[in-house]
Amino acid sequence: HAKRNPENKYVFYDGEMRERSGFTLGLESDLRRASGGNEFELHFQPKIDLAANRTIGAEALIRWRHPVRGMVSPAEFIPLAEETGLIWEIGAWTLIESCRRLADWIRRDLPIPSVSVNLSPRQFQDARLVGFVRSVVESAGIPADRLELELTEGAMIGDIEKAVTILNGLKDIGVRLSIDDFGTGYSSLAYLKRFPIDTLKIDRSFVRDIVKSTTDPAIVGTIVNLAESLGFDTIAEGVETQEQADMLRQQRCTRIQGYLISRPLPIDQFETFLGNSVVPA
Ligand code: C2E
Ligand code: MG
Ligand code: MG
Ligand code: MG
Repeated sequence: HAKRNPENKYVFYDGEMRERSGFTLGLESDLRRASGGNEFELHFQPKIDLAANRTIGAEALIRWRHPVRGMVSPAEFIPLAEETGLIWEIGAWTLIESCRRLADWIRRDLPIPSVSVNLSPRQFQDARLVGFVRSVVESAGIPADRLELELTEGAMIGDIEKAVTILNGLKDIGVRLSIDDFGTGYSSLAYLKRFPIDTLKIDRSFVRDIVKSTTDPAIVGTIVNLAESLGFDTIAEGVETQEQADMLRQQRCTRIQGYLISRPLPIDQFETFLGNSVVPA
């Protein structure tokens, strides 16, 4: 029972993995069907600037309403979509749908400065990416700088020259770029300064223990200083409590995203959230 992994080596499944592979096998054919159908939907989670007291954007997060299994988490099916190559089709849908939503919100004058969309490593490495993003932005008729793409450090390791070329191609379109889950990957400072990105998203793991930890406030402060030196913004993800928000503010990170503000919301609830924002964007 062997399977090729990306490095072309064979990996042997243990019992637990074999069980999981049976599970994912069913899921894979379902995912194939879902990719062409209408089982996906997008939820939007607000991003807030505490200093300016306003909504600065929202992250689009995909949801899969499986007819039998119910809601399947993206943490479960995005890796599978990457493995099987279905990620291109799914990612295309997410991008088109996100831009269409944003265009609608702009038309209706809702106070939402930007929408961000996650790109997984295989999408990032796909030769069609830059051309595709350009055409989706143009078709939607949105200002490019109101779309942000979130990339993980993992997407950019390997061939750094190639990554920089792709990033520059995206930047030429005018979209904004952020590094997601920052601090958990392998970015070296030498690479980071070459990336034409706008924002570092401080990983949830540094936020989770920031109130009790003796080290995490310093780590967050260091990331904020680093970002400032390189001309990037920062935002903290996974902020659940007021205490965490206060600690982040002490480290001069005033942009936050997390359950403290709101869970990711279905469209109608997200629009209600925007309607209730105290300060218009
Ligand atoms: P991510 O991009 O880092 O997204 C943040 C995740 O943290 C989301 O999980 C969000 O619901 C969750 N989260 C937000 N605030 C809090 C909080 O205060 N506490 C906790 N514990 N969690 C919080 P979700 O929606 O399950 O997505 C998981 C991952 O799946 C995302 O991580 C992203 O890597 C991937 N993903 C989601 N949608 C897409 C998509 O459309 N395309 C691609 N390629 N990947 C996606
Ligand atoms: Mg993200
Ligand atoms: Mg993240
Ligand atoms: Mg994260």
